[in-house]
Amino acid sequence: MNGPELVSVAPTCRLCAGPVREWMDLGRQPASNAFPRPDETDAERFFRLAVGICAECTMVQQLEAMPTDHMFRADYPYRSSTSDGLRRHFEAVAGWLRDTELTDRADLVVEIGCNDGAMLGVLGASGVRHLGVDPSAGAARTAVARGAEVRVGFFDEVSAAAIRAERGPAKVVFSANTISHVADIGTVFRGVDRLLTSDGIFVFEDRYVADIVEYAYFDQIYDEHFYLFSVRAVDAMVARFGFELVDVERIPIHGGSLRFTVARPGARPRRASVGRMIDEEAQTAIGEYDTYLRFARQIERVGADLVALLTDLRDAGRRVVGYGATSKSATVTNFCGIGPDLVPFICDTTPEKQGRLSPGMHIPVRPHAAFADPYPDYALLFAWNHAEEIMAKERHFVAQGGRWILYVPHVHIV
Ligand code: SAM
Repeated sequence: MNGPELVSVAPTCRLCAGPVREWMDLGRQPASNAFPRPDETDAERFFRLAVGICAECTMVQQLEAMPTDHMFRADYPYRSSTSDGLRRHFEAVAGWLRDTELTDRADLVVEIGCNDGAMLGVLGASGVRHLGVDPSAGAARTAVARGAEVRVGFFDEVSAAAIRAERGPAKVVFSANTISHVADIGTVFRGVDRLLTSDGIFVFEDRYVADIVEYAYFDQIYDEHFYLFSVRAVDAMVARFGFELVDVERIPIHGGSLRFTVARPGARPRRASVGRMIDEEAQTAIGEYDTYLRFARQIERVGADLVALLTDLRDAGRRVVGYGATSKSATVTNFCGIGPDLVPFICDTTPEKQGRLSPGMHIPVRPHAAFADPYPDYALLFAWNHAEEIMAKERHFVAQGGRWILYVPHVHIV
């Protein structure tokens, strides 16, 4: 099914209504986290994954949006806690919020997109008043088992008003890797406006577009990452919704992310980090169309090099296996046309993905145990953002002569 009724198309900026200039078309793409069973492939939905930049507010955004109820369903398979690094990160975030902001017993924290409770479970165990909001019922069940309280559904102005009526205002609203996913982002900010105390903070973490461009992380572009944030564009966006960006810091998550701290205007001092990073972005032309055109050419080169390498390896009789059926891998496989002929299967530790097919290209996803049974000659590392953790865990693969294939910032073998 691939009808125009399935996507929402906006030729102008969703934030400021300025003109959006397209700089890359990554082609027909599926929902990156919808892994069909072998008998479900006819029901897959596709959209045109095209990215542009607003000539006025400089927000990088997709031109078409996959419907949210297709992306974030009850069986959404992503789980934050499958990565030790992410689990440690969210434990640290929970400790930081508990010790700096949530110091009064009455303080409430609401997490948008709490997933399996990697962050909220820690706060729940510390006795902090909290609520997670997430439409992914399966992930929410795991969060509840970890001791977190979760409202299953989307966060928007309606659910925020209901939460406020039931529990009072929130001192902190937190969200990681979720705010950039919401095309209709105004509904999130109007919800935060209804919920936040006068001196509260809205903290959100998301991938940084400058890192994506610098390191050619083109597979960070997929349906869920509707916006790619820069500091300048987020500063303008939050002001439009009646808030102030008061702090921004780099965090080493997913190859390079930012933690934005937003407050009501004048409620918190604005730190120098905001102006400093906006100046840095001006120097590196991160708000300019030509920067993205150059990036688009680099993406095309990487795609061609990867297909050439995989074709050569197949023709030479080498076995290549995919490692990590990540959301990112949907972009790479569908953009490059990489199917089971080049990569016969992808191994993944997430039970919800195993026995299913990769979105769009239908590469079988097999349990992690299949990786060593027997080891392939090469492993194509789709989960490159956890490379250190994975390479340490799989040192026997290399010890037995195996090699990793990476494709960012360029195709190489290690
Ligand atoms: N916060 C976790 C992390 O950083 O690992 C999970 C991130 S996951 C990529 C995005 C999560 O946001 C999913 O669990 C999804 O169901 C949830 N989500 C998407 N849109 C949402 C919305 N409008 N309100 C609440 N949760 C949402």
